[in-house]
Amino acid sequence: TIGMIALDAAGNLSGACTTSGMAFKMQGRLGDSPIIGAGLYVDNEIGAATATGHGEEVIRISGCHLVVELMRQGKSPQKACEEAVARIVNLTKKRNRNVKDIQVGFIALNKKGEFGSYCIQGGFNYAVHDATGNRLIDAEYFMH
Ligand code: ASP
Repeated sequence: TIGMIALDAAGNLSGACTTSGMAFKMQGRLGDSPIIGAGLYVDNEIGAATATGHGEEVIRISGCHLVVELMRQGKSPQKACEEAVARIVNLTKKRNRNVKDIQVGFIALNKKGEFGSYCIQGGFNYAVHDATGNRLIDAEYFMH
């Protein structure tokens, strides 16, 4: 998945994502990316979020909608991503599945232009473009 979230000069938020789907997927599988609220969510009053990784896990918690709702409650984009990851981790444990088998990453941006990211497993990074230029950031991650 490639997900993009943006805040323009007029203060409007937007987002988009693409997906390659998953290797060996079942015929007809959609994944999270085309489902608004799962792989992508934007509320122009609050913030935007997008996800990558195992879509089933993101769908299970309505991941990007959750991230935006947590920002609405006052959480920073970083904390909102961390809490969404924590929900997936807790659900995975309750389902007696191994967190090691899951890869999920969220990025989030709020109306003030603050951003954050959190993942399950390392290896995710994201690009930021702002008035200071371009940079690539290694996402922080939870590893069981
Ligand atoms: N999230 C996508 C899916 O589950 C996979 C990806 O990250 O490309 O379909």
